[in-house]
Amino acid sequence: MSQYSSALMTEVTARNPAQPEFHQAVEEVIESLAIVMEKHPEYRAAKILDRCIEPERVIMFRVPWTDDQGEVQINRGFRVEMNSAIGPYKGGLRFHPSVNLGILKFLAFEQVFKNSLTTLPMGGGKGGSDFDPKGKSDNEVMRFCQSFMTELFRHIGPNTDVPAGDIGVGGREIGFLFGQYKRLRNEFTGVLTGKALNWGGSLIRPEATGYGTVYFAAEMLSTRNETLEGKTALVSGSGNVAQYTTEKLLELGAKVVTLSDSSGYIYDPEGINQEKLAFVMDLKNVRRGRISEYADRFGSATFTAADASAGHNPLWDHKAECAFPSATQNEINDKDAQNLINNGVYVVAEGANMPTTADGVNIFLQEKILYAPGKAANAGGVAVSGLEMAQNSMRYSWTRKEVDDRLRVIMHSIHEACVTTSHRFDRAGNYVDGANIAGFLKVADAMMDQGIV
Ligand code: NDP
Repeated sequence: MSQYSSALMTEVTARNPAQPEFHQAVEEVIESLAIVMEKHPEYRAAKILDRCIEPERVIMFRVPWTDDQGEVQINRGFRVEMNSAIGPYKGGLRFHPSVNLGILKFLAFEQVFKNSLTTLPMGGGKGGSDFDPKGKSDNEVMRFCQSFMTELFRHIGPNTDVPAGDIGVGGREIGFLFGQYKRLRNEFTGVLTGKALNWGGSLIRPEATGYGTVYFAAEMLSTRNETLEGKTALVSGSGNVAQYTTEKLLELGAKVVTLSDSSGYIYDPEGINQEKLAFVMDLKNVRRGRISEYADRFGSATFTAADASAGHNPLWDHKAECAFPSATQNEINDKDAQNLINNGVYVVAEGANMPTTADGVNIFLQEKILYAPGKAANAGGVAVSGLEMAQNSMRYSWTRKEVDDRLRVIMHSIHEACVTTSHRFDRAGNYVDGANIAGFLKVADAMMDQGIV
C-alpha cells in the first residue's frame, strides 16, 4: 500500500470504530485506486476519495410498532445517503437482525461505484432496520413498514433518494412502504423501485439481479470462447437473487446443484429443474418455509445444517465449474475459496454484496479464475431499478423483451468497462480493480466539476 493509501486507511479505521465490514469494503477500493491516485494528483488535492468515504448524510431513527399480542416493539431504522454526485441516492433497504450502521455504510459505499458502472444517473445509498420479518404475520410486517416510512418519508423522494428491496425486503414490504409514503405525501410518484406491475413496477425487476449476474458470468466465459451450457453451478441463498440466478442458469443449459438459507444447504446431484425451482419459489415466497423442506420433498437431495463452528461452509466443497454466492456478505472465506478451486471452480460471479472475504478474494485473483465482484456482477438489479425510474418518469411501460434487452446491453457494457479499464491500468484480467476504477472515475469527475460539497 502507498503512504497515501495506508494513511487514509488508518484514518478510516480510527474514525469508524467497530465497523469491520465498512473497513473491508473501503480497503479493497483504496487498494484498487492507489494507481489512479498516483496518476491524478488533482483527485488527491480535492480529497475526492476521502469525501467518498464519508457519507453525505446518515439518518438513524426509532421505529416503534405493536405486535399481534399488543406488545410494543422497538427497532432501529437507518438510511445512509452516501454520494449524490451523479444522481439521486439509490439503493436497497435491508430488514435483518444483523443490520447495523457499519453494514449499511459498507453497502452504501459499494452502491456508489456499482451505480456508476450501470451507465445510468444514480447516486448511492442504502438503508434498513434490525427488524426480522421471519416468523412475523403480514399485519405485523405492515405495521412495522408503516412506522418505518412515517419517519423515512421526509428524507426521500423521486428526485432525492429512491430506495428499493434487499435482504428481507421483497414485493410485500415494498407495497406496504409505498402505501404509507403515498398516504403521507398525497402523491403517487416513483419513490421506491421493485413495485408491483399494476402500480408502477417494471417487468424484469424481480428477475434482474439474478439474470444480470448470469449474463455477466456468460460475458466472462465468452472471453475464453466458452458458454454456460453443460456447466455445473453452486448457488447459495434461496431468496430473490438465488431464485432468478437458478432460473437463468437452467435456461442457458447449466446444472444447479445447491441452494441454502441461514439454517443450512441442500445438495441435489441430479440438478434443480424447473419443477423443483417452482417448489422453492412457492416455499420461500408464499409459504415462507425453510430450505430443508426441499430435501424432505425430493429424495435426490440431502440437507446439511449450518454449523458456525466448522470454520467453513461445505456448500462450497462440491465438484463444479461455477459458483454464484447469492446469500450475504462474507459467506466465502479463504478455506471456502480454496475448496472451490480444488473442486474445479473457475467462474465466480457474486450475486450477493461482498460475499467473499478479503483473503478469499486474494486466492481467486492469484489463481486467475474468472472472478466478478458483486459491484459489477449484481449491478443488473439496480440497473433495472433505474429503468423503472425512467418508465415512471415517462408514465409508460416497456415490454419484458425491451427491459431484458436493455439489461443485457448494460451487463455487456459493465463487462466492457471492467475489461478495458483493467487493461488501461495494467491490471488485465482483474475485474476487482477494473470495476473499482471504472466506477470511481465517473463519480470523481462529477465531484471535481461540482466543487467542494
Ligand atoms: P432475500 O431476503 O430474498 O434472500 C436472502 C437469502 O440469503 C435467504 O435465503 C437467506 O436465508 C439468506 N441469508 C441472509 N442472511 C444470511 C446469513 N447471515 N447467513 C446465511 N444465509 C443468509 O435477499 P436477496 O436475494 O434480495 O439478497 C441476497 C444478496 O444479494 C444480498 O447480499 C443482497 O445485498 C444482494 N443483492 C440483492 C439485490 C436485489 O435486487 N434484491 C441487488 C443486488 C445485490 P434466510 O431466509 O434463512 O435468512
